[in-house]
Amino acid sequence: MSAIDTLPPLRDVIATYQLSARKSLGQNFLLDLNLTAKIARQAGDLAECDVLEIGPGPGGLTRGLLAEGARKVVAVEKDTRCIPALNEIAEAYPGRLKVINGDALEIDPLAHLRPPVRIAANLPYNVGTELLVRWLTPPKWPPFWQSLTLMFQREVADRIVAQPGSKAYGRLAILSQWRTDARIAMSLPPSAFTPPPKVSSAVVHLQALPEPRFPSDAATLSRVVAAAFNQRRKMLRASLKGVAPDIEDRLIAAGIKPTDRAEQIPLESFCALAREIRKS
Ligand code: SAM
Repeated sequence: MSAIDTLPPLRDVIATYQLSARKSLGQNFLLDLNLTAKIARQAGDLAECDVLEIGPGPGGLTRGLLAEGARKVVAVEKDTRCIPALNEIAEAYPGRLKVINGDALEIDPLAHLRPPVRIAANLPYNVGTELLVRWLTPPKWPPFWQSLTLMFQREVADRIVAQPGSKAYGRLAILSQWRTDARIAMSLPPSAFTPPPKVSSAVVHLQALPEPRFPSDAATLSRVVAAAFNQRRKMLRASLKGVAPDIEDRLIAAGIKPTDRAEQIPLESFCALAREIRKS
């Protein structure tokens, strides 16, 4: 039996607060506290960090993060039904858990966080992907966070760490690998969740690099990559026609064959192309 803290088991919490899982909120809960503590450990050394947790639900991962020694956890949950359960955890860890009832896509929790900050979440995948893109594309780098430890559908996790030449390689891989070290830290079967989702999941850990891996202007790189992968089967001289009038010359100057397709181009070459386009 798990005993990471003296709070009631999560099944009892769910029964007490009647937290039947809602599909509309993407609720697939982790009820094994040993597993949530293990996920929390993937986030790195938490003792000197504030942790932003999105979508705590009944609090399994929240308890893992606190038990693993997070200095403070700021937890943003949309479902009002979960707030009393989370407040119970806050009482057990005085001064270390701030619960915010709100939509993570709309609220800005920065005022509650003191650096260094790490982010951890088990979120519905569509919200997770949108937040990941936002966290990877701030106006300034380095960002306000040191690392992201996020649960995704396995297919999305594979897209984040994908290498050139694979079907999964695309915009998400470029955005992630340009400014972070990204790796799959854990794989989880559907049975790890209640209720079980249809597909497997994975925890991805992304560590922010002090500066991007290769120099490039963020907006230009983003435009080039979006256009290139929007028509991934086309040759780059065709898919990037709208990006620059002299795209063939720019591709050649960046060391890329104009007849290549997006899928074959490594991150370094996309950055070189973005620099060439910006020069012109
Ligand atoms: N972290 C808990 C766990 O691991 O058991 C719950 C995970 S469940 C997959 C996703 C959680 O995110 C739910 O509690 C849901 O209510 C919450 N959620 C969904 N959309 C949200 C949003 N836009 N902002 C904040 N929380 C959200």
